[in-house]
Amino acid sequence: LESELEDIRGAGTWKSERVIASRQGPHLRLAGGGAGIINFCANNYLGLSSHPEVIRAAVEALEKFGAGLSSVRFICGTQSIHKDLEEKIARFHQREDAILYASCFDANAGIFEALLTPEDAVLSDELNHASIIDGIRLCKANKYRYKHMDMQDLEAKLKEAQKHRLRLVATDGAFSMDGDIAPLREICQLAQKYDALVFIDECHATGFLGPNGRGTDELLGVMDKVTIINSTLGKALGGAAGGYTTGPKPLIDLLRQRSRPYLFSNSLPPAVVGCASKALDLLMESNAIAQSMAAKTQRFRSKMTAAGFTISGKDHPICPVMLGDARLASVMAEDMLNRGIYVIGFSYPVVPKGKARIRVQISAVHSDQDIDRCVEAFTEVGRKHGALP
Ligand code: PLP
Repeated sequence: LESELEDIRGAGTWKSERVIASRQGPHLRLAGGGAGIINFCANNYLGLSSHPEVIRAAVEALEKFGAGLSSVRFICGTQSIHKDLEEKIARFHQREDAILYASCFDANAGIFEALLTPEDAVLSDELNHASIIDGIRLCKANKYRYKHMDMQDLEAKLKEAQKHRLRLVATDGAFSMDGDIAPLREICQLAQKYDALVFIDECHATGFLGPNGRGTDELLGVMDKVTIINSTLGKALGGAAGGYTTGPKPLIDLLRQRSRPYLFSNSLPPAVVGCASKALDLLMESNAIAQSMAAKTQRFRSKMTAAGFTISGKDHPICPVMLGDARLASVMAEDMLNRGIYVIGFSYPVVPKGKARIRVQISAVHSDQDIDRCVEAFTEVGRKHGALP
């Protein structure tokens, strides 16, 4: 193991973890010093992770329903709050039913095996999240991988897959490394033409994409065409933990009978259920938080572009500052932290070789001054290291 660990260090792909000594939020205190750090690398898109009402809801659920269920759902682990949250999730997405998991990783691990047989086919975008890839590995369906967001390639693969009983196209709604959004309109048209179902992973869309934050399907006007949605409660929706599948009732019924991460893992703890439930209430009351995040995203993207940086994706709070060189991304991220801005550099194998970047994530709770300080720091650090003229 020691030599394997050395190899990881030698390859420059070692991931170290910074320790935070405060709540998650736009401003952090790092263990061992650094206070007042402005945080630009959490998936806390709507700033609900430390929202006072979300915290209060968790405390109330903890007091009323206890620390946890000591059971899986079907034995002795379903409380009224689990059923209420599932109903609320289905209503939020305008779907028939929903099922909770301990994480979206589990939801992705459980769905393909439960739904697809060796007679079926799954067609997956090559840049889908690792949990979709692992979920697909676990199922016995025929596997097709199409080039990233390439509709010609998807069509060719759909033609090839006509020989199978059922076809399922699986894609991230928004891709977390590039901040780009799947062409769902085109995907749904092809799915209709070739009699396929569409599955989307909405972890980086639920709560904030689309006029009412319903997600990519709302943004692109295909809410009635996407059959299955998997998403997380651990990012925009309060940030605690948990995941879910929402879609047609018979599918959800089947998952309750067959999905292994659901059947063989503990129920979500009440405090976690309380957080997500309150987050959904806040979003269903008003879309003001989502709109505030969109305005801040726009401010960051336009100021950074004007400063001379290339920002990948469009209109998404994931704003990858493209730098190319892995070392440049890493030293610039380090130097940003020296200036009080917490961002992370990504390089191979997380992203393709030559496409290293610093990924900035905007939150509704960043102030305009936070955004401006980030742009100023990028400009200084970019000039110092030759990323800007
Ligand atoms: N799918 C995508 C696209 C993600 O980005 C993530 C989290 O990183 C997951 C699934 C897993 O979500 P969770 O943290 O709820 O397991």
